[in-house]
Amino acid sequence: MGGQASIAAVKGFRDVLPNESRLWRQLEATAAEVFAHHDFHPLALPLLERAELFARTLGEGTDVVEKEMYTFEDRDGTMLTLRPEATASAVRAYLDSGLGAQGQAARFWYTGPMFRRERPQKGRYRQFHQIGVEAFGQAEPIVDAEILIMLMHLLARLEVREATLHLGSLGDATCRPGYREQLAAFARDRLEALCGDCHRRLVNNPLRLLDCKVPSCRAAMQGAPVMLDHLCDDCAAHFAAVRALLDGEGVAYALAPRLVRGLDYYNRTAFEITAAGLGAQDAVAGGGRYDGLVAQLGGPDVPAFGFAIGVERLALAAGLTIEPPAPQMAILPLVAEAAGAALSIAVRLRAGGITVLLEPPGRSLKALLRNANRRQARAALLLGGDELAAGRGTVRDLVRGVDHRLALPLDAGASELVRWVREHEEGESAG
Ligand code: AMP
Repeated sequence: MGGQASIAAVKGFRDVLPNESRLWRQLEATAAEVFAHHDFHPLALPLLERAELFARTLGEGTDVVEKEMYTFEDRDGTMLTLRPEATASAVRAYLDSGLGAQGQAARFWYTGPMFRRERPQKGRYRQFHQIGVEAFGQAEPIVDAEILIMLMHLLARLEVREATLHLGSLGDATCRPGYREQLAAFARDRLEALCGDCHRRLVNNPLRLLDCKVPSCRAAMQGAPVMLDHLCDDCAAHFAAVRALLDGEGVAYALAPRLVRGLDYYNRTAFEITAAGLGAQDAVAGGGRYDGLVAQLGGPDVPAFGFAIGVERLALAAGLTIEPPAPQMAILPLVAEAAGAALSIAVRLRAGGITVLLEPPGRSLKALLRNANRRQARAALLLGGDELAAGRGTVRDLVRGVDHRLALPLDAGASELVRWVREHEEGESAG
């Protein structure tokens, strides 16, 4: 293998090394617990879907569909897409499972990688991960409030700093078309000030005019009409009820009159959560209501509400670090013949739930001890020629630096060995 060129990872695809990975597991475990308390149930979805699933749901004219999907032809000619998000898949699964047929209520959560060919930067990758929630069959404002409260509670538990809920409403099929027309008319009066992308947005998806990051576009769109001023009576009442429920629970939020979500299928409640420590890409989660999506995918008229948290960003924003577990016992064979006894004791201790660092033989005692100390092992079992001959190991207490002969024979049963390690540790902490 020597002398060959190394192979780089694909741009925008990254490895999640153990320190970060360990934190991710904690984030997911806490999320799973919080979701379970809120009657959400795990759903595992495929990474590949038919391309049309996303083309039909996310909206023509959205960045994701226009330029960010990884779509390819399978060997049988089917067009497939690596999922850019999981809501469309969740709806498909809800319908495929038969739950959707009667518009039954169903509450799911999922986690896993998503793929979007965006321009990579800090907090933005081409493969990234989300933890998400989808609730089907519930249109009432209490559901919006319940889920927002759950999400804010989860972020608080994960010690996310300055988590801020930005809350808006996108109206529905009654009020949005008229608003969209007013917004487009406002933009048409300022055409020369708008960038090329905004010219396209004006034709394809005028709401996205509010989302442009170009400073001259932002300036030109100052004072544009906002959806919140154009909600129909039903949407206004729904939004007021969501707000009243949040207020009643003392959940703070910032009104976001210009909030537009990246994907088209949202209606009514829409939100984003920002947090400190993320730089330019400061949205850690986003979501809202998508009452028309199930019908759009061929199902009955079933309302739905969901959100997704970006795991990479959550890991940056969460105020936690998870230390690797320190080995309770390092097993250090000092001679080649000790390999069998070393492995056998490691197997017995690990079966009893003890965290063991098992070293191969062949290095000096000094090198082995240095490594055991670096790994913060609490004790080391030394297995040299003397110990093998006597059938008893020597245990060195690495916290206090004293040796004792292991009172048990090397072939002692697992439970006896485990008890000995535990008692030894208890004595240590007591002393
Ligand atoms: P979205 O599915 O676009 O509503 O995004 C929901 C959340 O996923 C965002 O708030 C981000 O935290 C995260 N996210 C979206 N796109 C990316 C990306 N390309 N890289 C990393 N995180 C992302």
